[in-house]
Amino acid sequence: MWDNSLDDEYRALFLKETTFYNDVVLSIFLPSVVQDKLPHFLLAWLRNFIGGSIVYFVPGLVWSFIIYYGSRNRYIPKDCVPSIKSMLLQIYVAMKAMPWYTLYVTLNEFVVESGWTKCFPRVSDVGWPFYLISVFSYLSFIEFGIYWMHRALHDIKPLYKLLHATHHIYNSQSTLSPFAGLAFHPLDGILQAFPHTISLFLIPIHFRTYVALLFLEGLWTTNIHDSIHGKIWPVMGSGYHTIHHTTYRHNYGHYTVLMDWLFGTLRKPTLDDDEPIKGS
Ligand SMILES: [Zn+2]
Ligand SMILES: [Zn+2]
Repeated sequence: MWDNSLDDEYRALFLKETTFYNDVVLSIFLPSVVQDKLPHFLLAWLRNFIGGSIVYFVPGLVWSFIIYYGSRNRYIPKDCVPSIKSMLLQIYVAMKAMPWYTLYVTLNEFVVESGWTKCFPRVSDVGWPFYLISVFSYLSFIEFGIYWMHRALHDIKPLYKLLHATHHIYNSQSTLSPFAGLAFHPLDGILQAFPHTISLFLIPIHFRTYVALLFLEGLWTTNIHDSIHGKIWPVMGSGYHTIHHTTYRHNYGHYTVLMDWLFGTLRKPTLDDDEPIKGS
């Protein structure tokens, strides 16, 4: 049975891992003499900012080009293609929040490096069966946590008005785009990611896997805002999330529709996904 206590060796391994990430990303942008003079936390923040921006822009640009221009009319009806202006507005909102999102991610790394969480650095310390159970538990907790955080951001009216409404100005297929994926008030984005922080203290998770899952968040949120419905049950295809943007009270889930099904807020897309989805 794996011992929860994190010793000096674990802390050193976490720090080694994040220093490696800093080196890989920042060596392209900052000479090593400059890097050597800056504190680790600042370097990690810079690395997360650059990494987060790449994860936001590269898939967003490539995917938008394919669905709106490359395969015109195939995935999205011509009259539902969002305007450049609305995409630029989404990019503006997302990039205004990016320093805060990445500060939050860096603070999460700091608590891991300090040995305050249940993260572990090596799969060999726990074995593959434990690793697989831990990833499953972690993802289940994230699914549950994000569902309820998202629902609270709707149900608690001041939270909706002050924070989440910023994301809901995009309320039709023709205003949603992959760039809406991170277009939140910074505190809204952080609150929705907060289950990740809670789970670090509750569920043992392999550190590199945790970093990969956070990376996946950026890609996933791009995916569910592109208005192309994948139809793979119980995956939260963007058809479901588009309904969330039009009715405001269905499909709060994240990776899957299971929480909506369990808690009675599921609404399935209409048969013809190209038709604009009606509000309830
Ligand atoms: Zn919402
Ligand atoms: Zn959304």
